[in-house]
Amino acid sequence: QLGAMQDWKLRVTHLIDHAAREHATREIVSRWADGSESRTNWAGIRHDALRMTQALRRLGVEPGDRIATLAMNHHRHLVSWYGAVGLGGILHTLNPRLFDDQLEYIVNHAEDRVMLFDRQWAPIIERMRSRWPTVEHYICFDSSEPAIHFEEWIGGEDGQAEWADGEERDPCMLCYTSGTTGNPKGVLYEHRSTMLHALSAISPPVFGMDSRTVMLPIVPMFHAASWGLPWAGAAAGAKFVYSAVNDGEVLCDLMNREKVTCSAGVPTVWLALLQHVDRTEGEIPPSLKTVVCGGSAMPRAMIERFMRQGLRVAHAWGMTETSPIGTTGAETWDWDELTFDEQVTVKAMQGRPPFGVEIRCVDLGDPDRELPRDGVTSGALQVRGPWVVKRYFKAEQDAVGPGQWFDTGDVGLIYPDGTLQLTDRTKDVIKSGGEWISSVELENAAVGHPAVAEAAAIGVFHPKWDERPLLVVVRKPGVDVSQDDLRTFLQSHVAKWWVPDEVAFVDEIPHTGTGKISKKDLREQFRSYKWV
Ligand code: ADP
Repeated sequence: QLGAMQDWKLRVTHLIDHAAREHATREIVSRWADGSESRTNWAGIRHDALRMTQALRRLGVEPGDRIATLAMNHHRHLVSWYGAVGLGGILHTLNPRLFDDQLEYIVNHAEDRVMLFDRQWAPIIERMRSRWPTVEHYICFDSSEPAIHFEEWIGGEDGQAEWADGEERDPCMLCYTSGTTGNPKGVLYEHRSTMLHALSAISPPVFGMDSRTVMLPIVPMFHAASWGLPWAGAAAGAKFVYSAVNDGEVLCDLMNREKVTCSAGVPTVWLALLQHVDRTEGEIPPSLKTVVCGGSAMPRAMIERFMRQGLRVAHAWGMTETSPIGTTGAETWDWDELTFDEQVTVKAMQGRPPFGVEIRCVDLGDPDRELPRDGVTSGALQVRGPWVVKRYFKAEQDAVGPGQWFDTGDVGLIYPDGTLQLTDRTKDVIKSGGEWISSVELENAAVGHPAVAEAAAIGVFHPKWDERPLLVVVRKPGVDVSQDDLRTFLQSHVAKWWVPDEVAFVDEIPHTGTGKISKKDLREQFRSYKWV
């Protein structure tokens, strides 16, 4: 042997070991749904996770078994992540906002053996129990009704145990996509993929986290692994502030009291936070330095508002299949030379991949034809890398094409400097007279109007053009705006033939379980729409 470096398997238990050793006293704060709060730290999280590993062993749960959670964000949920993977088990986070049929399908498909849940989801447990034959043990995070209390369950253990050993490529976590088409699909993350993803997540172009960071992850732990934050935060030794409720008032209050510096969530929750600030004539919490936003396109008006306050905006793109980090809107090398408007334009795009992710766009009709990175030609977005799915859970064949490229279902274009701009999802683009209209761009332009709270554009059947865009709008409370006002406004922002023929004003736009606009439901709602 010429020489050698050490064996050190890329297993996620190293993350919690590091956090407990080097950042032992860094706090983890939880605000529960009833308003009460608890405080622990990284050393406490590790100790409890070890006790949970012991408690799981006592139940006869084995490495490779699936351990499900049905819970909001709080420190015991975080403990359960490390407790499950520490046993060598596979953590399975379930979205409580899914429909019963989806919950039935997912739990049976995953063959979960243990279910840890919040008291507020007890009605789901009651309803689903008989439909989940594989689940042998129920544990409640915050009550001794209707199942044993989590603290009592781990209370008899002393934490004097070892994490399970295993291989880097062993699975550690299972997340299902929300299944906008067909049955939900499970993505099986590995120790190695999760670890590499965590290292990327703390880097400056992504979350830019270190031990001074005070992170409030608004993104739920059941949505796309909470963007990997529970793993990345341990690597950084950041302080975490968790809230089981995501309303603007609670979030602002927590951010102010705990001096939160960075927070991450989908545009809808940021919208709720800004609406609260406006309603109360308050201010965006002054400690906040970085706003991470993804899951849907971040509207330009929102980006501008945050940037005017001196905040750094990180607009990220990703999906459950990419663990989920794909690209992030990091500052470009010539950032300081750009005007404010140009900077906002850069941030309104989805950014560039961090090291470890590769992207390309291919012809929508011919997936083998790679498109030039010219900032003009759009096509199907493909991705590959060590934290991108290769094969779905229990699937019989790979989900990737030649060269391991995974088709994202998104449509976009890439600029010569590598910046990705998403223009739509393959199934949402509006086809008018043989030409494509981006629903996303219409929505972004519409929410730039001061009277618009939320907007969605869908294609509706049209006898002459095949499809024409219909804009569905929720007005801000107490503000009036007419269809003609909006159409005139849009004419100065998008190509003339893109301007929606009609605007439908509604009280509410339907959202999916993960807080995104549900185009599927909206299309259903307006299926037999009659153009005036
Ligand atoms: P689903 O919405 O199908 O449940 P995910 O939660 O994994 O799945 O969401 C992934 C999808 O969300 C992406 O394929 C993309 O369409 C959309 N998305 C994520 N981030 C952004 C963004 N910054 N801009 C636009 N779309 C985004």
